[in-house]
Amino acid sequence: MADAVKPDVQAPVRVRIAPSPTGNLHVGTARTALFNYLFAKACGGKFILRIEDTDTERSLAQYTQNIYDSLRALGLSWDEGPDVGGEYAPYTQMERLAIYQQWADALLKADLAYYSYETEAELESAREAAKAAKTAYVYQAPSSERLAEMAADSSRTRSLRFRIPRTAPGETNQLVLQDIIRGPIEFDLDLIGDFVIMKSNGVPTYNFAVVVDDALMKISHVIRGEDHISNTPKQILLHQAFASLKLSPVAMPAFAHVGMILSADRSKLSKRHGATAVSEFIQQGYLPEAFCNFLSLLGWSAPDGQEVASLSHIASQFSLERIAHSPAIFDREKLNWLNKQYIRQLPLAELLERSKPYLKDFDLTQYDNARLEMILDAVREPITTLADLPEAVIYFFGEKVIYDAQLVGDVLMTAEATQVLQAALTSWATRLDFTNPDALAVELKAFIAEQAPLKTKAVMWPLRVALSGRTSGADLSKLLYILGKDRVMTRLETALTLVSASFA
Ligand code: GLU
Repeated sequence: MADAVKPDVQAPVRVRIAPSPTGNLHVGTARTALFNYLFAKACGGKFILRIEDTDTERSLAQYTQNIYDSLRALGLSWDEGPDVGGEYAPYTQMERLAIYQQWADALLKADLAYYSYETEAELESAREAAKAAKTAYVYQAPSSERLAEMAADSSRTRSLRFRIPRTAPGETNQLVLQDIIRGPIEFDLDLIGDFVIMKSNGVPTYNFAVVVDDALMKISHVIRGEDHISNTPKQILLHQAFASLKLSPVAMPAFAHVGMILSADRSKLSKRHGATAVSEFIQQGYLPEAFCNFLSLLGWSAPDGQEVASLSHIASQFSLERIAHSPAIFDREKLNWLNKQYIRQLPLAELLERSKPYLKDFDLTQYDNARLEMILDAVREPITTLADLPEAVIYFFGEKVIYDAQLVGDVLMTAEATQVLQAALTSWATRLDFTNPDALAVELKAFIAEQAPLKTKAVMWPLRVALSGRTSGADLSKLLYILGKDRVMTRLETALTLVSASFA
């Protein structure tokens, strides 16, 4: 049995996130980035960003930008990367083609790789034949005569394949991956065909480039999604080949494969379930730090059991051993719950800044910052996301209140309510000081007491409904202060007109 080369556990911790810029930063990639970041922080190591853009048809600069922006929004800053540089630059694969070529040439020279010439159609028909025979498709290297024949055919292009070490017929050809999270995983190498490492256009394949880069960038631990388990034996073999040629400056990295993130129906998280990109969640009004906190709980749990925690606290608790190998369920309710906690705790000045993009349909200049902060403080308790804000603050803006017929009927259409509104309309303009919130609270209390024998609620409700169209929301004296004298008096008048029109 062939054993995997043991990773050097003494090596300084250097981990990486290596996204392909073929889409906006996906929730799954963000969670992988977070685990790498946390592990680096927990060990005093380095967190590296590498852009894997060898899929030239699907890679776009706008996605690279989205990856930068989303990671930064989540607070996951990197120590080395394309935009910040570092000792092992460049950190973008398409800028490293000459390096891959050099390493490919070394494999070729050592006969650990060879050129192959099959056309796509020939490969496809071999795959079809395997399917028809109900066997797993494994690339079969042609005989040396056939290879020479194909090489002589100038209509063919060549790609470089890695030669999988083979055992004598009848002998097992196994490789064991010692996964940090999942324990030993065995692979039968006879089920893996010699695979392409350099395409005919000089661009490396993922499995090749990733190993060259992980070796040169001295990556100590590869932490990634379990969807990459099947790639790992190929990568281990390449690491072993580079070690045998003394190309790698370091030993093989250790591998840790994290369980997938599934949707509530246990299927793979996909567009079908709504947002899958971090930037979409942020647009929907989730606070990046709440979202990051949520991601940390997808497949990991803190030993201290604290669920709402800052990134630095999570890092102080983090270890790979506590990562689950079973899939994590993307629980929207939990995300909502966490986001609520964060919205409630955010300092008001900060909440105001973060809220502005969601309130762009309102003319915020009509209030000073102190009043805007009071508005947010008054409405933030029940909201789930910042996108709920427009609906929550609407009654503070504009001259008109939107009255609900049912509420008007239930709360305003009584003799008592009319009496309260009338009393407020005649006395407030002169007796209430709308510029002093503390005095206003005291004066309002006195006004309510004077309405006895009416109970407090019987006084407050009609006033609330008249002023805001709702029975809940901001504290009444705050509502008066924020709206200001003119708006309050106009709204009282409008409500009274509404009531008397129906009584008439
Ligand atoms: N570019 C690969 C991906 O985005 C990286 C996988 C890995 O971490 O090795 O899935």
